[in-house]
Amino acid sequence: MSVTRLVLATANPHKVGEIAKLLPGVRLVPRPEEIPDVVEDAGTLVGNARLKAVAICEATGAPAVADDTGLEVDALDGEPGVESAYYAGPEADALHNVAKLLNALDGVAERTARFRTVALVRFPDGSEIVAQGVVEGTIAAQRSGEAGFGYDPVFVPDDGDGRSFAEMSEIEKSAISHRGRAFRSLAELL
Ligand code: IMP
Repeated sequence: MSVTRLVLATANPHKVGEIAKLLPGVRLVPRPEEIPDVVEDAGTLVGNARLKAVAICEATGAPAVADDTGLEVDALDGEPGVESAYYAGPEADALHNVAKLLNALDGVAERTARFRTVALVRFPDGSEIVAQGVVEGTIAAQRSGEAGFGYDPVFVPDDGDGRSFAEMSEIEKSAISHRGRAFRSLAELL
């Protein structure tokens, strides 16, 4: 299958730029503004990605791509996982989510974690392509770095040199990140 045009389910500018670079040869169409956000209540990353992609695909009649990411912390039994965006509450921002995470891990020595991304393309005939990307790492005791978003200041990837994601350039992060891996895998499947 050769896909040349996909409507993006995300409106997050951090992600739009990153995804555009990861899917060369695919024309990405921004999500039409009139399509409302879906409630991401499927309970799994793949379920949430599907909810978002189906909503855009049905509204536009065109193939749509969506992704969903979770941070799985081993000492917290995989939390915040699919709830990563709302870890500190429905209105919480990244500052609050990171503060809650650092608090939950205060004094905890076992700090292994991973980001997991599911990227999913939905076609108007109901078929789909699903890809996954994972990056293993540890949660630092404190924030470092200004780049990126979300939990980047406290996530130190195993495949790096000890810097957090927020201390890396977009290119450095994308080369090893969960989203980079998921979308490069998706690009091969497309
Ligand atoms: P989403 O499914 O991509 O919206 O991700 C859910 C939540 O995971 C976001 O609100 C962020 O808190 C976090 N997250 C996703 N991707 C990243 C990343 O690359 N770095 C740091 N945090 C991320």
